[in-house]
Amino acid sequence: RFITIEGGEGAGKTTLIQELERRIMAAGIAVVTTREPGGIAIAEQIRGVILDSRHTSMDGRTEALLYAAARRQHLVEKVIPALKQGFVVICDRFIDSSLAYQGYARGLGMEAVWEINRFAIGDTMPDLTIWMDIEPEEGLKRIHKDDCRELNRLDLEGLKFHEKVRSGYEQIYRQYPNRIVRIDASAEPDAVARQAIAAVEHGLKG
Ligand code: C5P
Ligand code: MG
Repeated sequence: RFITIEGGEGAGKTTLIQELERRIMAAGIAVVTTREPGGIAIAEQIRGVILDSRHTSMDGRTEALLYAAARRQHLVEKVIPALKQGFVVICDRFIDSSLAYQGYARGLGMEAVWEINRFAIGDTMPDLTIWMDIEPEEGLKRIHKDDCRELNRLDLEGLKFHEKVRSGYEQIYRQYPNRIVRIDASAEPDAVARQAIAAVEHGLKG
């Protein structure tokens, strides 16, 4: 089973994934956790290129193509082999991030971003996606308390951009109500984890 975790800045995706990993392992199920963009050497390098704060002039389509390239390599090298070996794979971000950030918020169009991603991922889609939904203002506040986070240009783009990202996720969620489960990420970490586990248990049975 392939599970992806989505959401805006400061939603708590990373924390949730650690907690999910712990609980799934405790249930005796083999699980691999990974992240996008990244997860393997080539994709981590591409991540560095995209998120480098010096590249403020990167063209939107270039950015979308780089995300798709990193996604492709990560899928081929890590995700698909792990799925074939029977692992549950939990990935921090996947195609919905591209649709929400590049397709919607950056205005490239969801259809165009779908097209390049279809080329990149073929028919490997998540069985379950957990959308960690939070008010962008609250998410950004959380991040600014955490100074060990990598600084990148998106942080500099402010609230308006992140409001758009959220609207993007909202649209995707309405389009794929069966694949995507929405969780209130402003809740206590334990409540968030419990809701996520319930969704995963449901998804693993299906
Ligand atoms: O998930 P994480 O916070 O590590 O993502 C790193 C950065 O990349 C974030 O600022 C996120 O907003 C950005 N990003 C993006 N477009 C994507 C995926 C991530 O702008 N498709
Ligand atoms: Mg994170």
